[in-house]
Amino acid sequence: MTEATIIGGGIGGLSLAVGLKQRGIDFHVYEATDEYKPAGAGIIWQINTMQALDRLGLAADVQKHGASHAGYSVRDASDEFVMENDWTEFEDEFGFRVHGIYRSKFQEILVSKIGEENITMGKECIGVEQDGDSVTVQFADGTDVDAAFAVGADGINSAVRESLFPGHSLEYLDCVTHRGLPEWRPPAEVEDKLWNVFAEDGHVGYVPLEADTRKGYWFYTMHSEEIESKDPADVKDGLLERAASKPDRVGEMIDATPVDSIKSVDAPYVPPMETWSKGDVTLLGDASHGMTPHAAQGGGMAIEDALALSIALDEHDSLEDAQEWYESVRIERASEFVERSRRNGLGAISEGADHIEKMRHAPAEAMKQQVREDLTLGF
Ligand SMILES: Cc1cc2nc3c(=O)[nH]c(=O)nc-3n(C[C@H](O)[C@H](O)[C@H](O)COP(=O)(O)OP(=O)(O)OC[C@H]3O[C@@H](n4cnc5c(N)ncnc54)[C@H](O)[C@@H]3O)c2cc1C
Repeated sequence: MTEATIIGGGIGGLSLAVGLKQRGIDFHVYEATDEYKPAGAGIIWQINTMQALDRLGLAADVQKHGASHAGYSVRDASDEFVMENDWTEFEDEFGFRVHGIYRSKFQEILVSKIGEENITMGKECIGVEQDGDSVTVQFADGTDVDAAFAVGADGINSAVRESLFPGHSLEYLDCVTHRGLPEWRPPAEVEDKLWNVFAEDGHVGYVPLEADTRKGYWFYTMHSEEIESKDPADVKDGLLERAASKPDRVGEMIDATPVDSIKSVDAPYVPPMETWSKGDVTLLGDASHGMTPHAAQGGGMAIEDALALSIALDEHDSLEDAQEWYESVRIERASEFVERSRRNGLGAISEGADHIEKMRHAPAEAMKQQVREDLTLGF
């Protein structure tokens, strides 16, 4: 199989590079930023993602450097039990628990596996052109490269998607997610869990990222109108005000958060696409199925894409067959998570008490069956 030119060295692009290296397929990564800086806060790798990471040879590093979670618990504003998932049960079946890890640590792991010489930084792609024989990837610095096969892994605002499918625009959920890194250790009774509080004014949760200290990050997702400012000091004040009507640990953790670690992001998503490929170019990750954060699966889907595309390129003689197989195992599943994330987000920000009651009364067996389906990669 010919060399892959990967545009975008984020979670998906770098994971694809790991998969191709593992299979002895040539590749080169072009990344827009000048250097990798500690980005974002942390990320949750669910059990399906852990299985994909294992097949890419990365799960042991995540287990070593991240924090495992025994379960997912939901309480209401009065700290009353709503629901709980016990992930140790799924560990027996699928071999892994959910893990949280600092994004910067995960990025470091990926770059160390790939080798810096295989990544060119400071290369912002502005478009791709195809003439039937080859692909020309154009960069903002006026240079271009010819590629036999190019992969657009350039994130939710993908320039490659815009070149291939002009007008397939982002849509937005009327929602904002605030995040922060507190100097804080969660109370012992919840320290091994990914714990959540759902209330009428949004959904707050805490994600441990370090095994021994249980240090981690919190997120608070709410309707955009709740706190309109994105200035971190205003956000902190607004969240502390809302925390007064929640269990004490919510206020304690927000209070213990340095203002400069607080970031607020909107909730764009890519409406599901029928195909991710045109000619000798294919999309991967958020470029093809960017989703709102409410299922914590966007990065996981990018990693599943990376595994699938590296298998496809390894096991098919023609690029066309590889692209067809890749899309056949990925589009339906990723599109389902785009829709699920949007639905979960809408529930959390707009449906208030009804959403909480739905979770409280969801039949346990049906929920477990859904989780099992979610955890099964299907290829
Ligand atoms: C608040 C929040 C919480 C989240 N939590 C989770 C979670 O817990 N679990 C989970 O699985 N997912 C989560 N996600 C989603 C996850 O972050 C994304 O789905 C994931 O980063 C997608 O990976 P990607 O490689 O496709 O895109 P990115 O990680 O965005 O990488 C794209 C890369 O391409 C580069 N780039 C951009 N434009 C160009 C260009 N024109 N030319 C060259 N390079 C370019 C960028 O600099 C970047 O390095 C969350 C998202 C948000 C917003």
